[in-house]
Amino acid sequence: MYDALTTSYRLSCPRHGKTSVRLSRFRLVDELPGARHPAVYRIVFACGCGDEHPGLVSHDDLDWAPLGLGAGEFLNLMTSRVEPLAAELGDLAASRIGAGEWPWSFFCYPEDQPRPVFPSSFTLLAAGEGAIGLAVRCPHCRRLSLNLVSEPHVDLPFHNDREVGVVEHVFPGDALRTIEEFGAELWSAGFDVRRLSLE
Ligand SMILES: [Zn+2]
Ligand SMILES: [Zn+2]
Repeated sequence: MYDALTTSYRLSCPRHGKTSVRLSRFRLVDELPGARHPAVYRIVFACGCGDEHPGLVSHDDLDWAPLGLGAGEFLNLMTSRVEPLAAELGDLAASRIGAGEWPWSFFCYPEDQPRPVFPSSFTLLAAGEGAIGLAVRCPHCRRLSLNLVSEPHVDLPFHNDREVGVVEHVFPGDALRTIEEFGAELWSAGFDVRRLSLE
């Protein structure tokens, strides 16, 4: 499902069959209700054919496959450790995380600080002029923030923009439920620049 060489997902287009889709072309990420192991996310992606299509992506594929981690290993955001500790932890991703680098990060506006994050916390994405508008549900405080980031910031693990745009607004819990609402809010908003250094 995830191809590390092209850093993209193989998803289905009703017109073209299988197509390669980078994370920055996802438009919506929404966990399906009900207990599943691993959890499954309903996504909508902007396809090369010009349409948006739905798809399903497992939690493993969303968060761990881009890091080269297999099923059964996971990164604990609170302890910064890969658990359970596998023998092959000489793994590049694990050593970089151990050194304090995070594969993805964002600026949490309600907490006024950068936070590590995984793609499963990205809720809505929109493409603008050379930038990606990103709504993130903070894994720490559970509140929404809107960041303006580069495509590589989303697509490439361990590529973190040094500075990101931040919408200075605290969104209520039920805000920004649809791609349309998000687009309207995003492009009418002003962005303030924040540094994204986690050190
Ligand atoms: Zn298509
Ligand atoms: Zn937060």
